[in-house]
Amino acid sequence: MKRAEKKKIKRRYWKRKHTKKSPATAGGKVMHLRSSPLTAYFSDTAMTKILTQVEGDVYHECGAFLIGNLMTDHITGHTIAIVDDIYSDGEYGTPSNYSFSSHMQVKALNYIERNYGDAKHMIGTVHSHAQFDAFYSGTDYDMMNSRRSEEIHMVLSPSHRTFVLTYKDMEFVYHNDIELADPAVFGYRRNPQ
Ligand SMILES: [Zn+2]
Repeated sequence: MKRAEKKKIKRRYWKRKHTKKSPATAGGKVMHLRSSPLTAYFSDTAMTKILTQVEGDVYHECGAFLIGNLMTDHITGHTIAIVDDIYSDGEYGTPSNYSFSSHMQVKALNYIERNYGDAKHMIGTVHSHAQFDAFYSGTDYDMMNSRRSEEIHMVLSPSHRTFVLTYKDMEFVYHNDIELADPAVFGYRRNPQ
């Protein structure tokens, strides 16, 4: 092969390697980009356990850790949250307050390790607002901000039968427009956020 030909081939490969493809049109096919940054799936086990705890005492707040996986598609940037299970120590707080203790966090991590090993993780929290409507209070934002990045957080009101759900990303930005795989989840109505 002549040197000039070799050079031409080399140049062609270099160009192919260095031409940036837009992720939305990769492979010449226009892909559908979702507007919501996250879709959440709750297993029947997780839903049943959350409702059992929250509706077990509708006059006192309670809380649980969400267990499952958060997976981000690096091309579309879309994240899927799969909530397979929850951990709660069964304790209730006051009519207007519930605090996630570090003791319960340790017990939850132990529960995850024992039951799932490395396959599942603590991916967020859920707590009850007892006789108050579902929304994020100042205390709730303090709690969510004090935790690690990338989690989903849910508040349920058993008295109003309402809920709110948010996704805190890696930069601690809250996304309220997250999508539920099953919108009829819990049979509760989602409050505008
Ligand atoms: Zn709250």
